[in-house]
Parts: sequence; C-alpha cells; structure tokens
Amino acid sequence: MATRGMLIVLSGPSGVGKGTVRKAMFQDQQRDFVYSISMTTRQPRPGEVNGVDYYFVSKEEFKQEIANDGMLEYAQYVDNFYGTPLKYVNQTLDSGKDVFLEIEVNGAMQVRKKCPDGVFIFLTPPDLSSLKQRIKGRGSEDMQTIDKRMLKAVDEIKMMQQYDYAVVNDTVANAVQRIENIIESEHLRVPRVISQYEKMIGVVEK
Ligand code: 5GP
Repeated sequence: MATRGMLIVLSGPSGVGKGTVRKAMFQDQQRDFVYSISMTTRQPRPGEVNGVDYYFVSKEEFKQEIANDGMLEYAQYVDNFYGTPLKYVNQTLDSGKDVFLEIEVNGAMQVRKKCPDGVFIFLTPPDLSSLKQRIKGRGSEDMQTIDKRMLKAVDEIKMMQQYDYAVVNDTVANAVQRIENIIESEHLRVPRVISQYEKMIGVVEK
C-alpha cells in the first residue's frame, strides 16, 4: 500500500497573493503534488474557467454538497461560499500523492482540526500598504468590497500563530522558493519517513 500523501495548506489574509503564488507554483512546472480545485458560489472573473480555476456552482448546489458531507472544509467569504471537495483530496492522498490547498483562514483552521499532520503555511504581506495596493489593484471589486476585504485581512493576520510556517510574499518567486523548501524539508521529518526505515532498523536490532 502507498504511504499516504501529505496535505499542504497555503493560507493567509485576503489580498496577500495566495492565488498568484499558487498559480506560479503550478505554471510550467511538473510537481509531485496536485492542486485541489475549490468550489465557489462567486461569479467567474474574466478569463476564469470552470473546472480549472474553480468549480463555479449555485448556492443551492453548494449547500447540497455540505448536506452530503462532501466538503473537507468550507467558509463564507465576503458574500460567497468557498470550499474544498473532500472526495478528490481523500482519493489523491490515499494514492500516495501530496495535495495542495489554497484557502482562506477559517477553512484552514477546519482542516487543521481534521488533518493535524498536514503542513500549514501562512503567506504574509511584507507590509500593510502593499496589501492594500494588492486588494485595490485587482480592480474587480467596488470600494465597499475592498474596505470589507481590508478589514478582514487585518483580522486574519492575527491567525498566523495557528500555522507551522510564515512565508513573506515579497516577490512571487521568493515565496514559491520558500514553499518548495518547506515541502522538501517536511518530507524528511522522521515521523513521515520512519516506516520506510522499519526494515533496516529491524535488521540492525536482530
Ligand atoms: P477569490 O474570490 O479571490 O478567488 O478568493 C477569495 C478567497 O477565498 C481567497 O482568500 C482564497 O484563498 C479563498 N478560497 C479559495 N478557495 C477556497 C476554498 O476551497 N476554501 C476556503 N475556505 N477558501 C477558499
């Protein structure tokens, strides 16, 4: 049987650039881990594709998934629901592959309770003004939504303490490199590799 894959959770405050960093991780790169596509009730932004960026569903469909216990986690964010379909995550982890989630902080805390052996990475802004610029720069939200996201972001930064790693998003390339380093090191942690050494240890003890 394959060793169960590792669950990697990238989270952090609104507008810090989680989506950008996640896309950069998977762009033009063969990875040993796969991205779990989230489900959302928000409208697609220009250029976003159903089944690639998100599974875009109605509120009714989303609620049905929750009722069917089909979500690993979900959260209401601003005025929409976002969640991680459970089946894909479980099947992929069972097959021995690592799964990468990019989710907001409330969802990440639900995953932390359900999967304490996951790796929890908090992406941080270098400073607050760059965060505001990012939220504004996206250009797809009105002022009221921007203010809401900004307030929420400041609140969310306090949640850093619940994570294993803090990664500064000064540049996307740096952030990606740091995340790669974390994943590589996590794979070397003794509790994750001990089963591979059991035979060797057994031989020595005889
Ligand atoms: P956006 O609308 O900008 O694509 O995403 C808004 C927020 O929802 C981001 O912080 C993003 O990380 C988060 N998000 C995306 N997918 C999920 C998910 O499956 N679960 C949760 N809890 N948050 C998500």
